[in-house]
Amino acid sequence: MDTASTSFLGLRQLGREESLEAGRFLWREGDRGDEVVLLLDGILDVVHEPSSGEQIVLRSLEPGAIVGEFAVLDGRERSAAVRAVTPCRVLRIPAAGFRELVSSRHDIVLELFWQQVDRVRSLTGRVTQTHRAAITDALTGLYNFGFFRDRLALEVDRARATGDPLSLAVFDIDHFKSFNDRFGHAAGNEALARVADAIRAGSRRADVVARYGGEEFVVLLYGAHRPEAAAFADQIRVRIEETPFGEPGSPDRVTVSGGVATLPDDAGSAEGLFEAADANLYRAKESGRNRVVADTTAGRPQCRKP
Ligand code: GH3
Ligand code: MG
Ligand code: MG
Repeated sequence: MDTASTSFLGLRQLGREESLEAGRFLWREGDRGDEVVLLLDGILDVVHEPSSGEQIVLRSLEPGAIVGEFAVLDGRERSAAVRAVTPCRVLRIPAAGFRELVSSRHDIVLELFWQQVDRVRSLTGRVTQTHRAAITDALTGLYNFGFFRDRLALEVDRARATGDPLSLAVFDIDHFKSFNDRFGHAAGNEALARVADAIRAGSRRADVVARYGGEEFVVLLYGAHRPEAAAFADQIRVRIEETPFGEPGSPDRVTVSGGVATLPDDAGSAEGLFEAADANLYRAKESGRNRVVADTTAGRPQCRKP
């Protein structure tokens, strides 16, 4: 709604025009909703102020926006604060006049409806973005461990209900501390990103790949029995071994060790699966690194570097 259409709506006769300096609040969260504001000029931010003291900008309003109508219409307290970002000109419309207007003017209700449509659309986009950021590891672009843990719990339930197999592969970069010491932390980060790329490139679309922690990665292979999971993990190991890392001109190699565990053979729960895969990873490290151990019972590496 632009300024022209708002003057058409005839709101001006109902309110009192006022200037606001940048930084001033129209109201705070929890205040009574005794007026609606039409923004004539400038930018207003709708701000949530959690008890932690930070301020989260929920949205920015441009001239033509009406703000504060929810609390006026439903009688509840303000759900967010509104603050002037730039010097603003606003029209303050008392609650009673606004309620009367809404009950008699179809065009105003329609305008409010379209404002809500815009709001919902932009919120949907922001929720999606925020969700993606919350489940992604920033350095590698893989899922983070929190997402992986939740997803694994769901998939374990599914596998137990259907009788499908499910395998977990964990990888840990070998001697990564010394890689950092030799090439520096930034090159270490670059290597982490490239190991992540290699794991992603070697995985099926349906596999869930995550960064488990510092230099550890996990892959959830739904439907994979132990032999397929072992072959998958070893193929990832080889792929990483063959990728050149380090400074340009001084290629170095990064290797990973891997541990694999399968449900229901090795464990019946997500925690048990992690323990079994970790135990196999430990064996892979103990028996020389750059290898994958997938067979818990044998106690010996199943896939060795040739
Ligand atoms: P091992 O073969 O036994 O796994 O030896 P390691 O040196 O890889 O294992 P250790 O647990 O001793 O060291 C892990 C190293 O990973 C230490 C730490 O500096 C490095 N690391 C963890 N997270 C990051 C990161 O985000 N960036 C970089 N550059 N290095 C990291
Ligand atoms: Mg580690
Ligand atoms: Mg390591």
